[in-house]
Amino acid sequence: MSAIDDLPPLRDVIATHGLSARKSLGQNFLLDLNLTAKIARQAGDLSGSDVLEIGPGPGGLTRGLLCEGARKVLAIEKDARCLPALAEIADRYPGQLQVIEGDALDIDPLEHLTPPIRVAANLPYNVGTELLVRWLTPPTWPPFWQSLTLMFQREVAERIVAQPGSKAYGRLAVLAQWRSDVRIVLSLPPEAFTPPPKVSSAVVHLTALPAPRFDADAAVLSRVVAAAFNQRRKMLRAALKGTAPDIEDRLLAAGIKPTDRAEQVPLEGFCALAREVAKG
Ligand code: SAM
Repeated sequence: MSAIDDLPPLRDVIATHGLSARKSLGQNFLLDLNLTAKIARQAGDLSGSDVLEIGPGPGGLTRGLLCEGARKVLAIEKDARCLPALAEIADRYPGQLQVIEGDALDIDPLEHLTPPIRVAANLPYNVGTELLVRWLTPPTWPPFWQSLTLMFQREVAERIVAQPGSKAYGRLAVLAQWRSDVRIVLSLPPEAFTPPPKVSSAVVHLTALPAPRFDADAAVLSRVVAAAFNQRRKMLRAALKGTAPDIEDRLLAAGIKPTDRAEQVPLEGFCALAREVAKG
């Protein structure tokens, strides 16, 4: 394991600061700095960007991002035990690393960042999907971020890039592919982490499109898609019953058979349906 900087190896950092992993915080650390630098490289050219990192932990990915030339990293970490380790990184990269202690779900990062902004994170599994959905569904587009480079459980990564007709196709695929380009860029076995989780992981890279692929209101699309996939085995006319009056007519107007199931409807169909539902 060769070094990417002159800071101590992550195993030593963890031992020095007593950072035993806590399951309740989704703590599975990446200790191989070559791997964290590789993940940072997937985020694109960082030299002219501020980077938002959620859950830096002992700072492996943070060090990767800084070593790959990020202009500034804003790291939001809930576990106060990690702060001294992160302070050592901040000393090594003066003025380039800002750490905020707190829950990423409660903090507005935009107060601290200057565009262009990229997001890179080995996300805590318990908040990963919620953060992703938030980042994908702001009322206006383009969003604050240019790209998201995010580690997920492999199964979640597959849901993000899934195509219609597949089991993995659902709310995440529709919301992610509506306004961004998505691809899995890296697969990692459980042993890449300390402690190893039960499942494999994958890094997904999402690039924000300048405009949505199809016109729709984010809140309405989100609501329609959630209802459609909540009861994915049901025909859409039943699954969407509570969503709007005359749902069969609206489905037909959107070019969707009311007897189809959510899994069969492409992104364009959901956007057309969201427009029909928004008519009130
Ligand atoms: N980035 C580090 C790495 O790659 O080794 C740690 C990744 S670990 C999977 C997730 C990190 O997110 C932990 O450090 C955990 O304390 C932190 N975390 C968990 N919930 C959080 C939350 N709601 N807001 C901010 N950080 C959180």
